[in-house]
Amino acid sequence: MAENNNPASAATVHDTFIVGAGISGIAAAIKLKQEGYHDFLIIEQSDRVGGTWRENTYPGCGCDVPSSLYSYSFALSSKWSRLFAKQPEILRYLEDVSDHFQITPLIEFNTALENARWDDSRHLWVLDTTRGQYLAKTVIFATGPITEAQIPALPGLDGFQGEMFHSAKWNHDYDLTGKRVAVIGTGASAIQFVPEIQPKVKELFVFQRTAPWVLPKPDLPLGNMSKLAIEKLPAIQRGWRKAVASSLNVINFGLRNPGVLKPVSAAARQLLKLQIRDARLRKAVTPDFTLGCKRILFANNYYPALQADNTTLIPHGLVAVENNTVIAANGERHEVDVIIWGTGFDVSHPPIGKKVFNANGDRISDLWKNSSPEAFLGTSLANTPNAFLVLGPNVLVYDSFIGLAEAQLDYIIDGLKKVRAQGISKFSIKPDVLKQHNDKVQKHLQTTVFNSGGCKSYYLDANGRNFAAWPWSLATLKKRLKTFPVEAYDVVYAQPETLRAAS
Ligand SMILES: Cc1cc2nc3c(=O)[nH]c(=O)nc-3n(C[C@H](O)[C@H](O)[C@H](O)COP(=O)(O)OP(=O)(O)OC[C@H]3O[C@@H](n4cnc5c(N)ncnc54)[C@H](O)[C@@H]3O)c2cc1C
Repeated sequence: MAENNNPASAATVHDTFIVGAGISGIAAAIKLKQEGYHDFLIIEQSDRVGGTWRENTYPGCGCDVPSSLYSYSFALSSKWSRLFAKQPEILRYLEDVSDHFQITPLIEFNTALENARWDDSRHLWVLDTTRGQYLAKTVIFATGPITEAQIPALPGLDGFQGEMFHSAKWNHDYDLTGKRVAVIGTGASAIQFVPEIQPKVKELFVFQRTAPWVLPKPDLPLGNMSKLAIEKLPAIQRGWRKAVASSLNVINFGLRNPGVLKPVSAAARQLLKLQIRDARLRKAVTPDFTLGCKRILFANNYYPALQADNTTLIPHGLVAVENNTVIAANGERHEVDVIIWGTGFDVSHPPIGKKVFNANGDRISDLWKNSSPEAFLGTSLANTPNAFLVLGPNVLVYDSFIGLAEAQLDYIIDGLKKVRAQGISKFSIKPDVLKQHNDKVQKHLQTTVFNSGGCKSYYLDANGRNFAAWPWSLATLKKRLKTFPVEAYDVVYAQPETLRAAS
């Protein structure tokens, strides 16, 4: 347990405690303030806000949902320099929003949650942090779904003498100029940084286990005139946001009805013919699963980088390392100076599970060891009272995560309001409601492209269960998140019924 070097905080019981100051935590604080809640604390383990956009700084890092939609509904920006903003600009936007809504001074930076335990005798969360202990009636875990960089444990890796880093921990002090570089993985991050590093390295070996679908990215810079027009005519901005949302809705429809995507896959294959001249390379990068089964990627510069003279695509996974030689599954060997892991993240279990103990005193990650994480509407966990998770299991829709987080926060805030108004001191999702919800989610996922598209994606965990996706439309998710259904929760009131009736 952390030493309590902040005794005043332990004595005070806060209404709400927010963990994390990324997109979700910042929005939670803003929305709480807007609803007149001021008795909350927000902690952040790092020294600045931003989460994903503070941590991921690799060359070319940016969003793959247009910025008009990948921004808060309550803080649209006319300043984006392009249709899909890059990481520095997104981070600046989050800092500006946090400052503008006066959230930054409320954040306790450099403060990490170590343990969160439910005290059933007092109906309180006891939160041990690196800066002392806090007590709170409710807690919002806004700690992020995509944070655990994944590096495979491969034979011989310990003996590698060169430089090695993951895309999420880019070593900017290391100069790649003239180096022989192995990039492992061809996911969302790799397709952004491969074109950036290809021109400067001597040789580039791209290890591809599964060829992703890569579609053209409709990206453009926005000049001063465009920015001015967007600033002066907010209707343009709203219309633009709506248009992007509608086009993503069409993609979502296809993901739920894979038959619809077959002609799109065929058109995308034709496009590949135009983009890649070398038939062998084209065959190697042609996906063998239905479009949408794995995350669809968008880039205009990835295929050209693969066709550059200094690039070799190895259509196999990396299986071993021998001194400075990287060895592919087909036995191909190359000596390299650097390994860059574009191997993505372990997303199957929300990392916060390691720090949270439920009402029985069980560590949540222990309960998830042999099973898949489950929550009600991605936010309420079994037997974990007065707690909310943002961007938890089975809420993923092909859309902006910001929109999903905002929708969940509206649900959470509606819950906090009802709990306060009704004098509820403890609420916990009913086990049968949770079970019925998740049975239905899993049943409907079976026919979606995620489960039936013939790929092995990060949506499916080691149990083969889809822990990530929401099987219906975004509109349905938003409708379900519009109101907090008190009747779906087991509740305990602060006062006995007789006293409540009298007061
Ligand atoms: C490279 C990359 C690109 C992406 N691009 C897109 C995109 O284009 N569109 C899209 O919709 N989504 C995208 N995503 C998903 C992205 O993660 C979400 O959009 C969003 O940033 C999640 O925000 P968050 O606040 O929920 O989590 P995070 O951004 O992960 O923030 C969580 C915060 O909690 C803090 N924290 C965690 N644990 C503790 C603790 N124990 N104590 C205190 N603080 C803690 C962290 O330090 C962090 O600041 C991308 C993700 C990555 C990795």
